[in-house]
Amino acid sequence: MTYQPSPARYASMEYRRCGNSGLLLPALSLGLWHNFGSTDSYENCRSIIHTAFDCGITHFDLANNYGPPPGGAEETFGKILKQDLRPYRDELIISTKAGWPMWPGPYGDLGSKKYLVASLDQSLKRMGVEYVDIFYHHRPDPATPLEETMRALDQIVRQGKALYIGISSYSPEETKKAVDMLRSLGTPLLIHQPKYSLLVRWIEEGLTDVLEQNGVGCITFSSLAQGLLTDKYLNGIPTDSRAASNRGNGALEATGITPQVLSQIQNLNHLAQQRGQSLAQMALAWVLKDQRITSVLIGASKPEQVLDSIGCLHNLEFSNAELEQIESILKP
Ligand code: NDP
Repeated sequence: MTYQPSPARYASMEYRRCGNSGLLLPALSLGLWHNFGSTDSYENCRSIIHTAFDCGITHFDLANNYGPPPGGAEETFGKILKQDLRPYRDELIISTKAGWPMWPGPYGDLGSKKYLVASLDQSLKRMGVEYVDIFYHHRPDPATPLEETMRALDQIVRQGKALYIGISSYSPEETKKAVDMLRSLGTPLLIHQPKYSLLVRWIEEGLTDVLEQNGVGCITFSSLAQGLLTDKYLNGIPTDSRAASNRGNGALEATGITPQVLSQIQNLNHLAQQRGQSLAQMALAWVLKDQRITSVLIGASKPEQVLDSIGCLHNLEFSNAELEQIESILKP
């Protein structure tokens, strides 16, 4: 069936300015790390993307290695783009990344110019696009001079293969160096993509300050702790869950759901109910309460999860008492 996006798609999403740039991003963006590989149901992938776009999610986040197999998510997204979203390309912000192992040998990993340039060319082909909106270096590479990586990113923008540049998981110190180098090259750093959730708080130790001081946006990942900060695991491990499927590559594992974590989640869920939210909604609202966060990336295995998560926008306010209660629940 031909896809017709909802005419009301821009009615209720909040859009936030990305640092000091001209770019606005939706408060929630959709990530394709899991559930968009070539072994996943194509119709379900389509339905998740349609649901997101119908709700004003204009930003879709990919990486060269998302799958399985690596490259699979970009191929799936390229197919959906061709079938359904081609007329709306100018309403979309598509990002991809390189930095983790992608192909064998010394040129398919880390941060060399050789790897980044070749990888982006492959990504463009897989997605069937002439350019991506944001291209990221996916992780710091201490062995490659930062200047080489930043020059490669600057060149990619000058060649028109990406409109903006991002980095992911760089420390505050590395971020400041990257900001300065990119500024001197004339291609400002648009955005940083760190892991951040109620359970993982490292960006509070300096990174958000560096980003704010330098006018760089922030888009967080795994803010639902891969599903832990939802009602999914409150009563055991469902068979249709990430934790049940032993995916490796940093995916949530059953061993990560310890009795201590479970008790914290149960207490957080209780508080979410008092606020009239699902636990997923409260976890996302808690990240978005900080206006320095441009967007929060959500993953989803079903369209209904996207709808539930977007519901967080109805209440992004927390009283001091609620914030204190959260801290006391999470106290080790
Ligand atoms: P989340 O923390 O959002 O976890 C997503 C998972 O949580 C879903 O697959 C689903 O699990 C479950 N879930 C989501 N919404 C709900 C809901 N409303 N109710 C119940 N369960 C729900 O994110 P991810 O870890 O998937 O990361 C999001 C994106 O961030 C990635 O797709 C990627 O784009 C980016 N990312 C970037 C990284 C980087 O290094 N830069 C690293 C990791 C992610 P289930 O599948 O079990 O149903």
